[in-house]
Amino acid sequence: MIALKGVGKWYGPFHALKSINLEVRRGEKIVICGPSGSGKSTLIRCINALEETQEGKITVEGQLLDGSAKAVDAIRREVGMVFQSFNLFPHMTALQNCTLAPMRVRGLGRAEAEKLARKYLERVRIGDQADKYPAQMSGGQQQRVAIARALSMEPKAMLFDEATSALDPEMVKEVLDTMISLARDGMTMVCVTHEMGFARQVADRVIFMANGQIVEEAQPEVFFTSPKHERTKAFLGEIL
Ligand code: ATP
Ligand code: MG
Repeated sequence: MIALKGVGKWYGPFHALKSINLEVRRGEKIVICGPSGSGKSTLIRCINALEETQEGKITVEGQLLDGSAKAVDAIRREVGMVFQSFNLFPHMTALQNCTLAPMRVRGLGRAEAEKLARKYLERVRIGDQADKYPAQMSGGQQQRVAIARALSMEPKAMLFDEATSALDPEMVKEVLDTMISLARDGMTMVCVTHEMGFARQVADRVIFMANGQIVEEAQPEVFFTSPKHERTKAFLGEIL
């Protein structure tokens, strides 16, 4: 449902993504890891049309990302994204954060949008926080609102960019549990994370990036026990 073919991305003269080929099938869970600056965020931002690419092709659900506003809209409807820094609107309650895009983008009426938002706030087990503002919630709760907000668009796939990295250790688990539960429900997921326990538990494939390239790609049991490349071995040596 997501396909990248020969994707190249430059920031000015800097070659950030080099000939990326990646196919994500429906229901598949991909974990992307790699050293800082290797292009992980850039890659998933390109999938969601938050960054432009200069080379190759990206398609999501058959829709080619051709730079047109129509393609960007279509892809943002199909693909939800969760960031490291929750990016909630501070002046809106949890519920309002979750109803905004469904009303504006999907054209739902308020009652319908609220019903949907409450369903997904319940889904991430914070239905009781619906009327709170972000500043009145813990980091873990805010991140679960961000997940509920993305789910309220009823996307076909979810992208997570280090969704637990900004959280205090005791809150990491509640967000990972939410992600695991989404995975169990069959959501298509692409997750940039260094939570290797999560990768072992849910990933169908683990992708290791370095210097803007996909260096290695394997099922978790193979990736963790017998990585092929020196770069991968060195990286795993540092983080495990
Ligand atoms: P981290 O683990 O630190 O989040 P990452 O793998 O997500 O790293 P990216 O954020 O994708 O890395 O960045 C890849 C490279 O592109 C880095 O060298 C970074 O400095 C560069 N880069 C990222 N965004 C921009 C930008 N807007 N302008 C110029 N260079 C950028
Ligand atoms: Mg990053």
